[in-house]
Amino acid sequence: MNKMVSPGDLLMDDDGPLYVAHKKVYPQSVSGTFRNIKWRLMAVCLGIYYLLPFVRWNRGLGAPDQAVLIDFPNRRFYFFFIELWPQEVYYFTGLLILAAVSLFLMNALGGRIWCGYLCPQTVWTDLFYAVERWLEGDRRERIKADAAGMNAGRAAKRVLKHTIWLVIAWWTGGAWVLYFADAPTLVKDLATFQAPLVAYIWIAILTLSTYLLAGFMREQVCVYMCPWPRIQAALTDEWALNVTYKYDRGEARTSLKKANELRALGQPVGDCIDCYQCVAVCPTGIDIRNGSQLDCIQCGLCIDACDAVMTKISRETRLIGYDNDINIHRREAGKPPVYRIVRPRTITYVAMIAAVGAIMLYAMLTRTLLDVNVLHDRNPIAVKLADGSIRNAYTVRLLNKRGFDRVIAIDVDGPVNATLHVIGADSVTQDRPMIILARDTTTELRLLVTAPAENNPGKSVSVHFRVTDIGLGEVATTTDHFVSP
Ligand code: SF4
Ligand code: SF4
Repeated sequence: MNKMVSPGDLLMDDDGPLYVAHKKVYPQSVSGTFRNIKWRLMAVCLGIYYLLPFVRWNRGLGAPDQAVLIDFPNRRFYFFFIELWPQEVYYFTGLLILAAVSLFLMNALGGRIWCGYLCPQTVWTDLFYAVERWLEGDRRERIKADAAGMNAGRAAKRVLKHTIWLVIAWWTGGAWVLYFADAPTLVKDLATFQAPLVAYIWIAILTLSTYLLAGFMREQVCVYMCPWPRIQAALTDEWALNVTYKYDRGEARTSLKKANELRALGQPVGDCIDCYQCVAVCPTGIDIRNGSQLDCIQCGLCIDACDAVMTKISRETRLIGYDNDINIHRREAGKPPVYRIVRPRTITYVAMIAAVGAIMLYAMLTRTLLDVNVLHDRNPIAVKLADGSIRNAYTVRLLNKRGFDRVIAIDVDGPVNATLHVIGADSVTQDRPMIILARDTTTELRLLVTAPAENNPGKSVSVHFRVTDIGLGEVATTTDHFVSP
């Protein structure tokens, strides 16, 4: 007979319930190597984010002098000496590939380095925790205060905390919009309420999202919302170094007093004294001694906490450290640990980064500042004129990426003795049209290519368009088809 399934069963998997009520985490402050690395990286990341829009870069007269600028109205992206047009979106594809593979490489070398040290969610949450600790005290004080309930002093501190959080969040949103316009001008406009409405809307959205994500949702973003822990779990391998509790050294865990007694009797005992310091400092509130978990963002803070304990009790540090199961098993078997940084996976990732980087660099260095795209008319595809000649029409888009106007000539190579006419450009020479391309713009033209009756190809043939800068000699080409009706 089939067993009846209760709603409660549906919420269970092999490891327990699929739903658990949220338990507030009170991470304790800690100092040590990894905490210092995190402070420094936080300063670098926040410094870059907040200050980069104010860095200037001279691109010549009339061009924006902001080093990093996403110029939507003029459809440009500026990054120091690089200027990208919408037609060059493949560079962004290249950048995305580089970012993804770099993430895979980090993961193959040291687990979730991105999550623990560089992810904006981690960086801003850390900053918000620092404000909280500064005003409301460390873990113990905050647990006590929450249990005791509100009084005037606590309410004042809480109001101040939320005010500072909101200022940081507002500053974060404000810095974001500065990447989309000239920063000093926009700051002035924002302060005098003359900035475009969309800027205020984006600042409001980002203020709210930063305040909520870093102030309230914190570790829940990493545990429940972010897909990366699931992806990286599938990408990792047995050689990757992850924050690991070395149970071969730590077990059997017992209290310090008992451990000392057992050692005095010459009995085996682990180094872990079950002090829970590694759990107390964990920003996601987990116990790393239970093995690797998706909830662990691998921030390394439990390493610092445990190192401090080990130092205090005169035991060797790094009971928790960057390691893997292979080494745990090797140590258990009395063999020395092995670290394989160079292996097929990491070589493949480095090779991919090098290849994509080289392709992008080559494309960047050989990037043409004059470009031409052609689109053949669809309807009618070709026209037979009264004298028997055949005419095809094209829409041509010319890109002058230089910061000055220039004269260009258009040549066509297709049906024998075909002539070229630029609609609306009456002043141009008919046999070799020449036009002026304005600086830093895209110009659209209608071109008519006419093949005389005696040279009617009678089938579809290739037609090559060549655009030549008369002054600089720069050339851009493209190919389409000439069709007979
Ligand atoms: S278990 Fe350790 S490394 Fe993982 S999130 Fe907690 S403190 Fe960070
Ligand atoms: S901090 Fe170290 S000694 Fe203390 S419980 Fe964690 S692993 Fe054990």
